[in-house]
Amino acid sequence: MQDLGGKPVIVRTYEAAKATGLFDAVYVVTDSDVIFKEIEWHGGQAIMSQKEHDCGTDRIAEAVAEMDVDIVVNVQGDEPFTSKEGLAQVLSVFDAPDADRIDLASLMTEIQDWREISDPNAVKVVVDKENYALYFSRSPIPYPRDKNTAVQYFKHKGIYAFRKQALLDFYNLPMTILEATEKIECIRFLEYGKRIKMAISNTQGIEIDTPEDLVRANKVLKEEKRLPINNKYRNFPMVPKVVYGKGCFEQLASILGPQRKEKAPFIYLVDDVFQNDQELIQRIPLRFNDKLIFISSFEEPKTEQVDVLVKSIKTEFSYRPSGIIGIGGGSILDLAKAVAIMLTNKGQASEYQGWDLVKNKAVYHVGIPTISGTGAEVSRTTVLTGPEKKLGINSDFTPFDQVVLDPELTTGVPKDQWFFTGMDCFIHCVESLNGTFLNEFSKSYGEKAYDLCKEIFLNPELDDETAREKLMMASWHGGMSIAYSQVGVAHAMSYGLSYVLGVKHGIGNCIVFDHLIDYYPFDVALFKEMKQAHGIELPQGICKDLTESQMDTMVKIALSLVPLWENALGPDWELKINADKLKALYAKI
Ligand code: NAD
Ligand code: ZN
Repeated sequence: MQDLGGKPVIVRTYEAAKATGLFDAVYVVTDSDVIFKEIEWHGGQAIMSQKEHDCGTDRIAEAVAEMDVDIVVNVQGDEPFTSKEGLAQVLSVFDAPDADRIDLASLMTEIQDWREISDPNAVKVVVDKENYALYFSRSPIPYPRDKNTAVQYFKHKGIYAFRKQALLDFYNLPMTILEATEKIECIRFLEYGKRIKMAISNTQGIEIDTPEDLVRANKVLKEEKRLPINNKYRNFPMVPKVVYGKGCFEQLASILGPQRKEKAPFIYLVDDVFQNDQELIQRIPLRFNDKLIFISSFEEPKTEQVDVLVKSIKTEFSYRPSGIIGIGGGSILDLAKAVAIMLTNKGQASEYQGWDLVKNKAVYHVGIPTISGTGAEVSRTTVLTGPEKKLGINSDFTPFDQVVLDPELTTGVPKDQWFFTGMDCFIHCVESLNGTFLNEFSKSYGEKAYDLCKEIFLNPELDDETAREKLMMASWHGGMSIAYSQVGVAHAMSYGLSYVLGVKHGIGNCIVFDHLIDYYPFDVALFKEMKQAHGIELPQGICKDLTESQMDTMVKIALSLVPLWENALGPDWELKINADKLKALYAKI
């Protein structure tokens, strides 16, 4: 159960065995309740052994006694780096011409270091000409009387492939003296005259026998992970599947069908604005033990809220969900992403706020926006307010696996909210297009979304339905635009407002942007025009009664968003903005 790169060793071992694709089925056989639950939670198959056993082989024999199987491979639970190569080799002996003579097969690897050769923790094996095992021992075998003889030493690796009968025989035959003396299970086979074929493996791998091994293994995993990311050009994931069109929400059941894992439910997180909307609720394809949870978006998502949701799901279901489906605005979409991540990652959501801190792939997650503008449906982040900061969980595992874009779902959005969330998209474009991080990739999306916004908010001829369709795509493009660049001043300041006063993202951006004429002169003028065209009134003077300490916190939160300022003002941004200037700006709004 010890942690190895975010998952227990046993789970890693199970996944490694499964990932080889060599087996019809993979099970963890255990006498531990904790391990059993852990495996099921990770979507694996576990078998609880009924009786007490002295060794793993006995436990496996019990488990397969009633199964219709040909060959059973025993992988030790502490071998998370089990490679396909090794397992394929141990299986390949059953295809060789002498296969009929083999009762079981195992692996060995050459060792040269005398310290390892003489280490009793390393079991040595000697073989005959055809690589059938002669004996296993913790002593160095053969013993080199003449130190100069060129002799090969082989270490036994704890992977076995049994014919089912050999395994059952083993179970029924009592332990004998040699096995008991050396404490090496497979000696029992030799003592009863069974034939063990040894295959040679060249991969060393790390076995985890001691706490030091675990530390070493964790380091190896970290290094493997670090290599591909944060190169000169960042390699971003995109949403792999998206369906678009009026009424495409109807297709949800057929989209989810293939993703369902037996007894594991789909969990729907739905904005509670739909709580009384029977028509929509009826269309949500709840099957079996699927669960629908209504969530208020009155406040923006919090890390604590994510933790509570994850805990309640884990308590209610013994199987990890087949998927998390978010239906709502940016708030609910972000919550769905965060819950999907935290179902496979240990600890609390606040530990993952930042860039690339998530270790494990999230549960399958689907985003279904019911209001357009944030780009949360397409982005690589989930913005959360935590105990110390408001910051996204920005990672390769954050984006949705599937997005359903049905413009019809946005029909009931109230006018003001439509404007505020729509302006989030407009501001994403402005900040991206005027930022120093801009490249042609971001620009191509940003320009498109910017033009769509102008059309939506300034062309009175546009009918509602077309405007909704266009805004849905503007949101998508705006989100794509900031994927490769960043947002800027309005967002940094709006985060401060939200942290201290709880002002929501869309309206907060608008309140701030209205005062940013010095930073984005042309676009702030355009914004005012849009505001007027739709008769939108923004609250005024919301910062004038703040205490000194509230103001300090707000400024601190805003200034902590380094990439945003760097994008807006360039690498020497600290020369252009400071706490006093920012306070003066806040005081005006
Ligand atoms: P929201 O999700 O809070 O929803 C706004 C309001 O609209 C709510 O009252 C909601 O109930 C209502 N609503 C939603 N759909 C409706 C419908 N079809 N009919 C009637 N009412 C409806 O607002 P938002 O602006 O979409 O999202 C804001 C959140 O998104 C913030 O938490 C912000 O941090 C986050 N965000 C995330 C990203 C990202 O990339 N992950 C980007 C921008 C913003
Ligand atoms: Zn935004």
